[in-house]
Amino acid sequence: MSRTTPPRPFDVTALFPQLAPLARIATRLHPRAGAPSQHDSSVGGPLLWPADEPWPYCDGPHVWDQVNAALSPEDVRLQRHIQAVVASRPHGIPEMSRYTPEERAINDRINAGRPWPEGPIAMLPVAQLYVRDIPLLRPPGQAEADLLQVLWCPFDHPDHPRTALFWRSAAAVTDVLDTPPEPPAVQFPGYVPEPCLLAPEQVTEYPNFLELSKELQQQLGDWSMWQAAGAAVDSSYAVAPQEFYMNKLSVAPGWKVGGWTRWGLTDPMPRICPTCGAEMDPLLTIATTEWNAGTESWVPDGDQARDPLPPGTPPANYTLIDLARGYDLQLHVCPASPDHPHIELIQ
Ligand SMILES: [Zn+2]
Ligand SMILES: [Zn+2]
Repeated sequence: MSRTTPPRPFDVTALFPQLAPLARIATRLHPRAGAPSQHDSSVGGPLLWPADEPWPYCDGPHVWDQVNAALSPEDVRLQRHIQAVVASRPHGIPEMSRYTPEERAINDRINAGRPWPEGPIAMLPVAQLYVRDIPLLRPPGQAEADLLQVLWCPFDHPDHPRTALFWRSAAAVTDVLDTPPEPPAVQFPGYVPEPCLLAPEQVTEYPNFLELSKELQQQLGDWSMWQAAGAAVDSSYAVAPQEFYMNKLSVAPGWKVGGWTRWGLTDPMPRICPTCGAEMDPLLTIATTEWNAGTESWVPDGDQARDPLPPGTPPANYTLIDLARGYDLQLHVCPASPDHPHIELIQ
């Protein structure tokens, strides 16, 4: 099922030609709940993992935060299932009396938590991306690789999960691992992605406002420069037209491959390969939500009506991932070699 981002209000390079050479293609992934197989591109789905290759484990440290109870991935799935069933029952009675005694007992058992795990922890599949679905996904220096697999350790290291990336050739995986190990516990339910299918779509992005030259920043902040666009620019942005650029014309929200780095928690900073000093490229953005109040112009056509979320779910949180209270984890890779470690950036 395809999803289409509405066209941008106008071509920003017509007003600001200096932006033209900065255009980059990003592939929005549009994850939506589904039942992916090992042969699908997915978020939170099963991986095409070779039976004879060791599953990745994280050696920690996994330090108990003394506050949160650990849950198993199965606990999280069961709790989500109960929540969905309860939400489908008639409303108008207090929420607690909509649970059966059995459901309440299961919830109590889950909320009591599990022992904090000791020793290495099996990593959880987060995303699997086939190049056939995302043609711009190319591993540096590995022409035969056509599959990217991303896993994470569902504990904070120190303030978000630790990720691991694997590039491989799908054709080389003849014997697939059917029942991969699962971590005995996760630190937060939001670290267990809901299985989602993807509907990749290419869009054009321009850099975050703060990554532009001072001259371009001045132009974008000058309302008189925007007048030529006429009614395409909402005049409520007259006092700060750069916000129109930030919200509607520059960087797409949600899960994506490539494009420009999203900034918001901090000002832009260099992303330099710790091994060779090269400037690193955005590879995959793992997003908490697909859009928010500022970026609603990027909502795919017809989407809000087509994909109602269960009651109580934050808006546009289809993967049920929650990172650092609503932020995004962006993985950057070195263009010189896939062997150079990637960097993780919360924004
Ligand atoms: Zn770990
Ligand atoms: Zn490097």
